[in-house]
Amino acid sequence: MTRPVVCAALGLEARALAHAGPPVVRTGAGPARARRAAARLRDADGLAVAGFGGALDGRLRPGDLFVATEVRGAGPPVPCPSAEPLAGLLERTTGATVHRGPLVTTDHVVTGRERAELAATGAMAVDMESAPLAAAGDRPVAVVRAIVDTPDRPLLSPATLTGGAAALRRLRTIGPALRAWADAIGPRRILLASPRSFCAGVERAIEIVERALEMHGPPVYVRKQIVHNTHVVNDLARRGAVFVDELDEVPPGAVTVFSAHGVAPAVRDEAGRLGLRVIDATCPLVAKVHAEARRYAARGDLVALIGHAGHEEVEGTLGEAPESTVLVQTPADVAALPADRPVAYLTQTTLAADEADALAAEITRRFPDARGPHTDDICYATTNRQRAVARVAREADLVLVVGSANSSNSRRLVEVAEQAGAPALLIDGPADVPLGRLRDARAVGVTAGASAPPAVLDAVVAALRGLGPADLVEREVTVETTEFTLPKEVRP
Ligand code: SF4
Repeated sequence: MTRPVVCAALGLEARALAHAGPPVVRTGAGPARARRAAARLRDADGLAVAGFGGALDGRLRPGDLFVATEVRGAGPPVPCPSAEPLAGLLERTTGATVHRGPLVTTDHVVTGRERAELAATGAMAVDMESAPLAAAGDRPVAVVRAIVDTPDRPLLSPATLTGGAAALRRLRTIGPALRAWADAIGPRRILLASPRSFCAGVERAIEIVERALEMHGPPVYVRKQIVHNTHVVNDLARRGAVFVDELDEVPPGAVTVFSAHGVAPAVRDEAGRLGLRVIDATCPLVAKVHAEARRYAARGDLVALIGHAGHEEVEGTLGEAPESTVLVQTPADVAALPADRPVAYLTQTTLAADEADALAAEITRRFPDARGPHTDDICYATTNRQRAVARVAREADLVLVVGSANSSNSRRLVEVAEQAGAPALLIDGPADVPLGRLRDARAVGVTAGASAPPAVLDAVVAALRGLGPADLVEREVTVETTEFTLPKEVRP
C-alpha cells in the first residue's frame, strides 16, 4: 500500500491544488484517461479527486465548493462517508459555501435537457473523471469540485470566464484541507463508550413536544431549548415547535412546554397569569432537586447549590427558594457562606462527580453538620456517561464527545476524558470530526452527551469508518433501564 493520493484532471487544477496542499497526480481529462490513471493508482490507500465541476442544482453558484457524498457512474454508486468532516473543514478554512450531495460522472459535457434529467435523479453536480477513479478500489474516497458552470450559466457561455476564475481562486484555498484528509487516512480502533447519548429525561422531554405537536398541531411553544442540542432543536422547529426565551413571546392561551431543565416558580406563576396551557417537561430528577431545595429552605437551612452560574437548571433551582439559596462554584464561595444558620447543600444534576465531591467536601469541612445528598443529585445518566468515557479514555489517543457547546453534561464528559488521560474534543456532529487531529490517533474514543441524538453519534462513527479500516469496539460499564412516565397532558 502507498499513501493516499490526490488526483486532478488538468495541469491548471493540479497547480492550484498543490498550493499549500499535498502532491497531486495528474490524470488527464475525461473518463477514459481517469480509468487508465485508476489502474496505475490501484495500490493507493485513499484517493481524493479535486478540480472544476458543473452544477446540476441551481443552488450551487460559481466559486462554491461541492463535496460528494456519493459518486455515480457506470457501475454501482461509490459512497464517500468521510464527506462531512472534509466539507466541515473546507467551510472553516476556506470561507466558501460548501454543498454536499451525490455527484455524477458523464463521458461528455452535459447541457440543457440532459442536465435537467441528471438533476432529476437527485445528483447535484457533474464531472467527467470521479466515477472511474472512485470505483477502482475498496478504499476511502473524497471528491471536491469547485463550481464553474450552473444550469443558468452553462459551459461555453460568456459567464464561463468569470465562473472559471471564481472556481480557480477557490481551488487555490483547498490544498490544506485535502492534506488533512489524506493524513487522516489509516487503520484505527474506534472505542464506543456505553452508556452514551440520550438519557430517559431527554427522551421524555422530546416525546412530550412530539406528542404536543400531534395532539394540538403546530405551533407548540417551548420555553428555552427543550434540551441543549442543536440537532434536536432544529428538528423540532422544522416540525412546528417554536422556541422562545421568555413567556412574553408566547401568545395568550398557547400550548407551552417547559424544558427538561426545569423552571423557577416565578415562571409557572407568569404562565398562569398569561393563561398558557402548560405541559411540563422538567426531568423528574431535576424536579427532585427542586423539591429538596424547598424542603431544606422550609426548615430554615441555608441551601448551598453546587452548580454553574447561568445554566437553566441552576436558575430554576435557585428560584425555588431565592432568599435561602446561594450558588457555590468555588472554594471561595464556600468560605463566603454565612454561618448564621444550618447549612444544607444540593448539586446540579449534570456536574462532574469529582468537581461536586470537592466542593461538597469543602462545605462539610466548614460546616460539619451540613446536610446534603453527596453526589446523589448528580443523575444516573451523568454518572454512567462519565464512568464510560473515563473507561475508553484510558485506551484512546483522542476522545470525541458528541454534543452541543451549551450542553453541560457533554462538556463535563470532555473534562472527565481529559482527566483520564486522553485529549478530548466536543463536536456537534460529523462535520466537526477533526481531520487534523486524526493523523496520530489510532484509537479514537467516541461518546455522546445525554442530549445528543444517537443518529448524530452514528454519523460520526460512519465518518470515522470512512477514513480507513476500522475496528469497532464497545466498552460498556453498565446497562441503563431507567424510564420516566409522561405527564398526564400528553399520555395516550
Ligand atoms: Fe434528567 Fe439526568 Fe437526563 Fe438531565 S441528564 S435530563 S437530570 S436524566
